[in-house]
Amino acid sequence: MTPGVRPLIAGNWKMNGTLREAAALAEGVRAGLEGVRGADLLICPPFVHLHVAAASMGWKAVAIGGQDCAAEPNGAHTGDVSAAMLSDAGCAFVILGHSERRADRGETDVLVKAKAGAAIEAGLIPVVCVGETEAQRDSGEAEAVVAAQIAGSLPEGFTEAKGVVAYEPVWAIGTGRTPTEGDIVAMHARMRAELVARFPGQGGTTRLLYGGSVKPSNAASILALANVDGALVGGASLKAADFLAIAAAVPA
Ligand code: PEP
Repeated sequence: MTPGVRPLIAGNWKMNGTLREAAALAEGVRAGLEGVRGADLLICPPFVHLHVAAASMGWKAVAIGGQDCAAEPNGAHTGDVSAAMLSDAGCAFVILGHSERRADRGETDVLVKAKAGAAIEAGLIPVVCVGETEAQRDSGEAEAVVAAQIAGSLPEGFTEAKGVVAYEPVWAIGTGRTPTEGDIVAMHARMRAELVARFPGQGGTTRLLYGGSVKPSNAASILALANVDGALVGGASLKAADFLAIAAAVPA
């Protein structure tokens, strides 16, 4: 945790579920909110489920986010969704630069930076994902890779817009494996240093999330670490009880 920073627990639903299942999952999260006191909550359903999730949250109890947005504001971009459209659909946040998009869709730091700029322009809070591959960690490059992604993916105005950075080691996503606590602390300290150097005003209080196989059984220990200001949760966010248990594990 970072003193004075309210943690954020974000659920990335990825490309899962029917409309009915999305409504039920959102409702399950909303119904269990009393047990969550120490953190803000965010759920990020697929685009076509955003509206039903936002409606089920009463449009405010839990924040809603997209999983991507276009860099362009509008126009002839078949299949894309703009940041303004996400805002119009009830979103306050958008995940950008997830490793699945970097790896599967060829997204570069330059594109992620343009998308984050578009998100800020539309009034959304970008959650920019960074993280090394297993080969990069094994060769001792992890911190340098993440520092370069931070330098390349965050636009000017990122911290004023309350932008969030999520450290997600690629090899920990969906695998059940996590870095050691020491490795998480070291990486988050490096990320904090990079942010403070680039954004002296607000880099010290920018939310830094950890993501990668967070579940109820490991959440309390991870969320207590220095400079870990919440979690980005994939698989465990698809069960309301698990997502709520992770959120309830934030130290009071
Ligand atoms: C993710 O995809 O952002 C993620 C962290 O997934 P999981 O929690 O399933 O590892």
